[in-house]
Amino acid sequence: MVICGIQKPSASRIYTGESMQDPDDVTVYRMGPGCDLNDVEEGKVYIGRVQGFANFGTFVQLNDRVKGLCHKSNIKTQHKERETILVRVKNIRNNGNIDLEEVTYPVYTVEVVEKKSTAVRLAELSSKVGRTVSIEGEIAQIKQTSGPTIFTIVDESGTENAAAFVEAGVRAYPEAELDDVVRITGEVMLRNNQIQIEARSLVILTGEEGERVRERIEQALDQRSEPPEIPLLIRSDVLEQLRPAMRKVAKVIRKAVFSAQPIIVRHHADADGICSAVAIEQAVTALIRESGGDFDADYYLFKRSPSKAPFYEIEDITRDLDFALKDHARFGQKLPLVLLTDNGSTEEDLPSLKMAQIYEIPIVVVDHHHPDEIVDQYLVGHVNPYHVGGEYGITAGMLGTEVARLINPAVEEQIRHLPAIAGAGDRSEAPERKRYYELIQGVYSEQDCKDIALSLDYEQFWLRFNDGRELVKDILNLSGSGDRHKKLIPLLVEGANALIEDQMNACMPNVRHQTLSNGAELFRIDVEIHAHKFTFPPPGKTSGEVHDRLCQQYAGSPVVTIGFGPDFAVLRSKGVMMNIPKMVRELRDEIPGGGISGGGHLVVGSIKFVEGMREKVLEGLIEKISRVPAGL
Ligand code: MN
Repeated sequence: MVICGIQKPSASRIYTGESMQDPDDVTVYRMGPGCDLNDVEEGKVYIGRVQGFANFGTFVQLNDRVKGLCHKSNIKTQHKERETILVRVKNIRNNGNIDLEEVTYPVYTVEVVEKKSTAVRLAELSSKVGRTVSIEGEIAQIKQTSGPTIFTIVDESGTENAAAFVEAGVRAYPEAELDDVVRITGEVMLRNNQIQIEARSLVILTGEEGERVRERIEQALDQRSEPPEIPLLIRSDVLEQLRPAMRKVAKVIRKAVFSAQPIIVRHHADADGICSAVAIEQAVTALIRESGGDFDADYYLFKRSPSKAPFYEIEDITRDLDFALKDHARFGQKLPLVLLTDNGSTEEDLPSLKMAQIYEIPIVVVDHHHPDEIVDQYLVGHVNPYHVGGEYGITAGMLGTEVARLINPAVEEQIRHLPAIAGAGDRSEAPERKRYYELIQGVYSEQDCKDIALSLDYEQFWLRFNDGRELVKDILNLSGSGDRHKKLIPLLVEGANALIEDQMNACMPNVRHQTLSNGAELFRIDVEIHAHKFTFPPPGKTSGEVHDRLCQQYAGSPVVTIGFGPDFAVLRSKGVMMNIPKMVRELRDEIPGGGISGGGHLVVGSIKFVEGMREKVLEGLIEKISRVPAGL
């Protein structure tokens, strides 16, 4: 028998003889690749392939997974192995055996039997344990274990793993790659209390079918990623105007969670930065756990990393890239989404942002540093109060907490005290700080917030570059162990204050004072030779503490404090209309060979320079400070 014509995925007509019958008379079916016994119907005619011969008849395959027997009494023509044959299903026995009989038609129409859309949504798998199901989704990770190959699959409803086994440690379905859309059929099992499909078949969906499934998942994911419509925690015009930007960032993060893309949160290593990053950490890790996948996915798909500088340093992006690329190569993980908070919005971030762009790593920023417009071409989203006429008093911790609620409103109760702590940490004078206090009245006092902020700074000093995820939860009272929190804070505050006291005893007698021509009281302290090194408080905080004491002493006057070392200066100010990033840029141009860089907030920041030019730089700096308007 000769079959002419090209098979199409949909119905196609095949003419095999001279006599023209009405072609609509006969339809024969071709079993699609994902089909199994459940898709076979008694009485229907299928195109099969001769698999082999026995005394009693001929074995016929309907596809790779289904075969039946044509008893010799039901064979009409001569066949060779692998030849095409038309068979009618006479009977499907209880044991799954299929009885076939051969039929011949001169003309017939072929229809492909698609796997009955029994594709189960991943979120429904927990109710299907012990049953065989088909799922459709995108491969989000491929991990080779010493046993099976583990495919992490994402669909519109969730994330789960499928285990496929050929031989211990050997990659199953090597043709399947990250981001492929696949249909997997297999039994739903519970392994270590975790849902897993034992894949019996994996088919890569290509062409129209693949596109259809991909589009369906993409659309549903997009909708599912849309943040909820909820009011802000407090009344604030600035925050209200930032709502679209916050929703955008929240949506990007939700989508990363739902598609099993790793998330790295980089934050300034101070109380404000920690509060912002931890609020988002709470929202994201809860959402990861909720959406299925590995039991420890909230650990390897989410990483929080403190950055020493208030910007994304080359050292930071280099580490992040190094880990991400290795995870990609070794564990088949997607490249991450990076969120920068309490940093990320200034020119100083550019070199790192450019590096991220080469690897197509998307970056979103939640910051309250004075932004440079140029960064925005490298960012997918950027929340910053300066964009809508606000200022740094609306701190990163406030913004991060509002974004976290949009990512996952279920964590609101746990994180609603974080903005007040962040406001205390960054000494915010914005009206929003007071409203965030009011929100937690009766639970945390203003002094509690200050104590917690100090404890964060103190512990972060000892943690260095580690995130201290669980320890920080105790400090912020997120771990549910209120008892430990209650014991921990007074101890940390006592430890921090004792060291600060030591430092101030050493520093204060060596502060040099002058009154500038604009009326500002200027204080200088060499923190390199008049402060303890390599202990808490570090130079930046030491300068801040000195400044706070001087502000009290000179209450009513504008005050500027410069804490400097051999090659750096830290600035704190009150009542002086400085623009530190601008002053740094000007000094860079005016003092050749100064090696000047730096920035920060408008009135709080730092400058780096080369040691040999220190006096010149400090002179230039003080000269600039004396020329800006001052007064309370
Ligand atoms: Mn901050």
